[in-house]
Amino acid sequence: MVETTRTYITMLIDNSNIDITEEADFVIVGSGAAGATCARWLAAAGRSVIVIEEGAPPKPAGGDALEVMTTLFRDAGASATIGEDVIPLLQGKCVGGTTFINGAIQVPFPEAVWQDWVKEDKKWEKLLPWNKLMSAQERIYKELSVAPTPPELWGENGGNLLKGLGDRAHPTLRNAPGCKGSGRCLQGCPNGAKQSVDVSMLPQAMAEGAIIYSSCEVKKVIIKGSKAVGVQGKFASGATLIAKAKQAVIMAASAIQTPWLLKKSGITLEGNGFQCHPGVAVAGLFPQKIHGMPEATQSAESLHWLSERIKFESLGMPRAFRAARVPGSGKILQSRLEKLDHVACWGVAAKAEARGKVARGPFGPMVFYTPTASDRQVMLKGLSILAEAMLDAGATEVWPAVYGSPETITTAQQARALADIAPTPGLFPMAATHLFCGVKVRDKFQVEGIDGLVVADSSLFPSNIGVNPMLSIMAAATLVAENWI
Ligand SMILES: Cc1cc2nc3c(=O)[nH]c(=O)nc-3n(C[C@H](O)[C@H](O)[C@H](O)COP(=O)(O)OP(=O)(O)OC[C@H]3O[C@@H](n4cnc5c(N)ncnc54)[C@H](O)[C@@H]3O)c2cc1C
Ligand code: SF4
Repeated sequence: MVETTRTYITMLIDNSNIDITEEADFVIVGSGAAGATCARWLAAAGRSVIVIEEGAPPKPAGGDALEVMTTLFRDAGASATIGEDVIPLLQGKCVGGTTFINGAIQVPFPEAVWQDWVKEDKKWEKLLPWNKLMSAQERIYKELSVAPTPPELWGENGGNLLKGLGDRAHPTLRNAPGCKGSGRCLQGCPNGAKQSVDVSMLPQAMAEGAIIYSSCEVKKVIIKGSKAVGVQGKFASGATLIAKAKQAVIMAASAIQTPWLLKKSGITLEGNGFQCHPGVAVAGLFPQKIHGMPEATQSAESLHWLSERIKFESLGMPRAFRAARVPGSGKILQSRLEKLDHVACWGVAAKAEARGKVARGPFGPMVFYTPTASDRQVMLKGLSILAEAMLDAGATEVWPAVYGSPETITTAQQARALADIAPTPGLFPMAATHLFCGVKVRDKFQVEGIDGLVVADSSLFPSNIGVNPMLSIMAAATLVAENWI
């Protein structure tokens, strides 16, 4: 057994340099939100479990943006959609998956979305019955110690969002008991406060006997006849892993890597194309200092406009990322950068209607995706509401970074005008951190046509959900595990 960076990891073999063949009841591909949840409940029920993770055991990164991206993010954060807009696709690649670098916001599964799914296809009533989904969600709340952000951690960035949006916003629910407000969730919590799955579900699974192989990329699902019987993986060292599954192979590699790996393994996937929540942001300058005091990375949000496909949240990010949002040149830019600690940043996540496709590329998955004009309109409306709220909260200038709008907005009228800009491609920079769809599942969450090949991550969702998905993914993965216990 190889010594690892964190003592709680006892059943973890990182980057073996000898070839390994192993067998277990369940082989799980990916150790993020979905994989860790399945491992936790299957191991607790006495099933033997192997989890295989492409990334390494993580260490929190320093403040340097480059270090964060190159050590913890997949492809150093450089993968992006192919389409009329280029949208960076951000994902974690480490033990714990994206939960290690996420903002710790927990939002309950929206009932309206579940009803839409059932209206579309009655199978969801059987696969994800609402009462069972809600009790699974309750279990996850307890496992991750989810609680509202306390007032002392609202800080100025989130605090001003609460001020600007009034009773249409509230403090976020977070899985970070004992949070010290270092505002560094996206770098990995240096205080061990954030209950990412590497410090919650995975140690519990290992305590019940689950084994994790990390720094090992699964290359292929092995199929015999019409049954999945295991996977082939390769450690970064070059050594191989054959993991045989007595009951099922559970795919939990994310809504990009799961469909891609299935396609690479020769499985034809139909329909149910890729969706995401394209995110856009406004930044603004405040007279007072916004950063430097204790604040949870994402302390405030609004679910008020969900029916209009809009979700808002405050965004705490590394200084270099914030600097990238400051407009201007020469002396103006210099004077704004000198006040970088006075810059607030708030985001819009859109429940975009567009569908795309994850295809096999020469070096990895290629994601073809273009937001529709209506999606861009939704984002423009969101930016306009946020820009006005930022002025209401006391910002002296707001920077929307929208082509066709003034670089600096100082009046409510200018803020409202953002919503009327023609929704053409290339209007604003976007990023996608919430990824969905890609695989149609049948009974017991199995892939059509292949027995014992199960999907547990958000590739199984028939649509995006409009809110931060970690909690919903973990609640659904709980029901996946229960189906196999
Ligand atoms: C910057 C950022 C902030 C976010 N903030 C929030 C938030 O505050 N709240 C929230 O609810 N959501 C947030 N999210 C999204 C949330 O974290 C993800 O939706 C969730 O973690 C996805 O779960 P998953 O299990 O599908 O995938 P992941 O958690 O990404 O885990 C998949 C794992 O599979 C591994 N893997 C992939 N391919 C292979 C392979 N071939 N072999 C072996 N392993 C493989 C990956 O390396 C990865 O570790 C955020 C995302 C980002 C990028
Ligand atoms: S804000 Fe800081 S202390 Fe709190 S959970 Fe995030 S990284 Fe940890």
